[in-house]
Amino acid sequence: FADFKSHLLEVQKRAASFYYYQLWQDDGKQGLSYLRNRKLSDETIKKFGLGYSPKYSGNLYKFLKSKGYSDEILKESGLFHVDERRGMQDKFWNRVMFPIMDVNNRVIGFGGRVMGDAKPKYLNSPETKIFDKSRNLYGLNLARTARKPYLIVCEGYMDVIAMHQAGFQNAVASLGTALTSGHASLMSRYAKEALLTYDSDEAGQKAALRGIPILKAAGIRPRVVNLAPYKDPDEFIKAEGKEAFEKRLMEAENAFLFEVRILGKEYDLSDPEGKTAFFREVSRKLLEFPEELERNNYMESLCEIYRIKFEDLRKMVNHMALSG
Ligand code: ATP
Ligand code: MN
Ligand code: MN
Ligand code: MN
Repeated sequence: FADFKSHLLEVQKRAASFYYYQLWQDDGKQGLSYLRNRKLSDETIKKFGLGYSPKYSGNLYKFLKSKGYSDEILKESGLFHVDERRGMQDKFWNRVMFPIMDVNNRVIGFGGRVMGDAKPKYLNSPETKIFDKSRNLYGLNLARTARKPYLIVCEGYMDVIAMHQAGFQNAVASLGTALTSGHASLMSRYAKEALLTYDSDEAGQKAALRGIPILKAAGIRPRVVNLAPYKDPDEFIKAEGKEAFEKRLMEAENAFLFEVRILGKEYDLSDPEGKTAFFREVSRKLLEFPEELERNNYMESLCEIYRIKFEDLRKMVNHMALSG
């Protein structure tokens, strides 16, 4: 079995060099200019081993067969789908390719992006015997060597790469799948804090809300970065530059205050009744903090933000504690 795994890793590595080589050939011109148009330097393209899967299917298959790999191993690689009539077909074609590395810099899978508006925008390798999506993070192989006390967690390949290029080498992405406890425990080996830079759209905010308790459970302190009015870190950096981005990182919001602020959107806070109902729920949430000092600190912040009296909030929290 160990032997089978090492063959699977070999296949991924060969595929990565195949795609990489293609990017710099005539056929890959379109891919290269796509990446350059997205403001990636050639140095960055090389550092991340980005590539191009050719337009006409069958190229990767032919290449790997010429290296002597069996159909059996190629089927397990996730790089092909098996067509009853036409046999083994390359899964990726006419896409820019992002090799996904594990923490030991071994290629374990790929993401491929269309260069236009076709759907699906990204195609990813399926899980295989060497690619467990809930236990690998894109960019962690590089982020771990940055030796920063925090990791920057984002949604996508381009975000990790853009941040890296701007000097934020501690960026990782969970790649379209939700953050899992496997991701969190992996992260906890390298950092005590996580700055969430998920997309500023509703899906991204929801992903942040779901990620917070998972990170906390792994002993990581999450904070949430505001990217508005831009959609994601890539777009933010392109528009505002790295100093402005660094500033946003430093201003990242406390996770609890973020949760409360999002909860507030469900209430009409300009209405006395709505504001009271909101604070009933906030008071219940405050009970999650077992330490009185910490709870009081949060209560003080909330009183300032929402302009209420500390004594009123304290009474409500105590009441909630008694009524259960
Ligand atoms: P880009 O900047 O290239 O348009 P993005 O990273 O901003 O891409 P999002 O739509 O925000 O794209 O998606 C975030 C991540 O989710 C992607 O990087 C990719 O890993 C994954 N993803 C997006 N669309 C799909 C899809 N259709 N199928 C699978 N995974 C996807
Ligand atoms: Mn998104
Ligand atoms: Mn983007
Ligand atoms: Mn995005």
